[in-house]
Amino acid sequence: MRTKDLMELVGNPDFISGIYNYCDRWCERCPLTSRCMVYASEKEDEDSDPASRDINNAAFWQKLTSIFEQTREMIAAWAEENGVDLNDADAEAAIEEHDREMQDAQNHELAQAAENYAWQVSKWFEEELGMQTSDDSGAEAAALSSEHDDSIDEATEVIRWYQFQIAAKTVRALMSQDDEDEDEEELGDLLLKHSDGSIKVALIAMDRSVSAWRVMQIGLPDKADSILPLLVALEGLRQSTERAFPNARDFIRPGFDEVSPDLIQ
Ligand code: SF4
Repeated sequence: MRTKDLMELVGNPDFISGIYNYCDRWCERCPLTSRCMVYASEKEDEDSDPASRDINNAAFWQKLTSIFEQTREMIAAWAEENGVDLNDADAEAAIEEHDREMQDAQNHELAQAAENYAWQVSKWFEEELGMQTSDDSGAEAAALSSEHDDSIDEATEVIRWYQFQIAAKTVRALMSQDDEDEDEEELGDLLLKHSDGSIKVALIAMDRSVSAWRVMQIGLPDKADSILPLLVALEGLRQSTERAFPNARDFIRPGFDEVSPDLIQ
């Protein structure tokens, strides 16, 4: 997409500002696609010349070059607007600091527990249903699908969608929390807690995963015992996360937690 087109999208009043910052990126199932700028820009790219998505086609490389140019333009525009000198050695220091913060967040016990859960999920699907990856339908899973109703497929999709996202959102929240702690004295109550918004997405992912695992237990009674440790791990993680972020559930996510003005009489 050209920078000009992107800027036109940014100006569209139908879009809810920042809605994509606190969503689960499951656009296929999102009720607010028509209010989301990210969805609109991705859709516009998808609808463009199919040759530009073929890696063997020159159009693909031309498109990549054009994206590179646009990205440079946008970074330069952002840097100018925000008074950042991209040639300053501090830009490199800031990136190093960011990497350090990410490492600390990844080593946090909540992030570690979330990551362990994700790998336990992969192991369970591989050992119990013969599914190597989330895209793999698995021999046993295919057989089970023909014997059971769609609820098993649905539950599998939900668990697989969120399995790594819980850890990713937790790391993001921990990193934001670090910055907020530094700014808190200065901004006090006015501070917008991005960490609460990010962790709320992780908590919702946990809630939905717990429900999906329960559906699996009911639909596949012979797997109920092997599912139990996963449910216990997830519930423990959910409770620890709520203790660490006591205000997260109250965070109002743009679009998703707001009452539409159309519904107010
Ligand atoms: S808000 Fe909805 S449409 Fe937009 S990126 Fe998130 S899931 Fe996708």
